[in-house]
Amino acid sequence: MFVNNIVLQQYRNYEQLELNEFGPVNLLIGQNAQGKTNLVEAIFVLALTKSHRTSRDKELISFGATSTHLAADVDKKYGKIRLDLALSTQGKKAKINGLEQRKLSDFIGSLNVVMFAPEDLEIVKGTPGVRRRFLDMEIGQVAPGYLYHLQQYQKVLVQRNNLLKQAWGKDMASVQLMLEVWNEQLVEHGVKIVKKRKQFITKLQKWAQAIHEGIAGGTEELKLTYVPSFSEPEEEDEAVLLERFMIKLSQMREQEIRRGMTLAGPHRDDLAFAINGREVHTYGSQGQQRTTALSLKLAEIELIHEEIGEYPVLLLDDVLSELDPYRQTQLIETFQSKVQTFITATGVETLNAERLKDANIYHVHDGH
Ligand code: ATP
Ligand code: MG
Repeated sequence: MFVNNIVLQQYRNYEQLELNEFGPVNLLIGQNAQGKTNLVEAIFVLALTKSHRTSRDKELISFGATSTHLAADVDKKYGKIRLDLALSTQGKKAKINGLEQRKLSDFIGSLNVVMFAPEDLEIVKGTPGVRRRFLDMEIGQVAPGYLYHLQQYQKVLVQRNNLLKQAWGKDMASVQLMLEVWNEQLVEHGVKIVKKRKQFITKLQKWAQAIHEGIAGGTEELKLTYVPSFSEPEEEDEAVLLERFMIKLSQMREQEIRRGMTLAGPHRDDLAFAINGREVHTYGSQGQQRTTALSLKLAEIELIHEEIGEYPVLLLDDVLSELDPYRQTQLIETFQSKVQTFITATGVETLNAERLKDANIYHVHDGH
């Protein structure tokens, strides 16, 4: 997959920008607050229709404007496509080759990206919510049907929680009847989500483990495990998952009514990382936590390739200069020939210049 150009209108600090003739490796160089992250973010938004840094689309629209427009021409294995995305306070409009897509999920996945940014360390160090967001974003890219179930699940969850909030002191039989209606839908979509997440983690694990070994040396074994709120971590059979989820809900009923919220399901699940059997979150050194996050991101590149038969575009925001020269070289050499890469940095001198001598260089200066 290869992004040829990008056009931005009223996007963050870019009033109007057109960059053409991107190469296999593109360096975006500029001082702080000039718009480097905004540029790689724009490529990310064209892939996923949302930002990696915020869930509020309004922030992407330039101050004082009411809408923003992004476009790019992308070469794919089976031909060229033109992507257009307009975001306004009213919502989003997405086009492929000029044709408006009725559902955003038909647009997502046309361009595939893997972003690696400093805040990705939070996937390892942060709260379960960060890891669920990571899972949802990544699975959504390769399996658009997943996003449908996620949306439906969240809708049911809100309704079910409302019912639970008002249930205290009410007639139990009628509360239970209503709960059962919501349970059925919650379980239906919840099971699809959990199953996909488990399958994704099993595949990611295979790559992450091999990559981690390459970076850290053969003495460290990285393991990824899904931490479910019902069923066993490895269970993937839908009928079994359905039954377990239902049983869990009936076991938790009283507690749920007391606390006024849904206490089991994919919105409570987590992902755990262990090195040689020990939780990286708790026992890992800074370096091990960094390497885990990096291995995870690099594993995604291989996984996307495996799933869709094409390599995604790699976006490295401020991370290359953080790595020691050996790791920079490893990273660049692994992907230089097969993955188009966008790298931001404040200066070329922070990068392993020898390896990047054929890169296209763009100087980013206050939105130009
Ligand atoms: P750093 O090296 O510090 O990471 P950067 O070049 O990556 O800097 P960006 O994060 O891309 O900088 O942000 C550049 C500028 O964009 C900031 O000064 C910020 O105020 C501005 N900005 C952010 N959102 C908007 C918006 N909606 N409208 C206009 N300007 C914005
Ligand atoms: Mg930045």
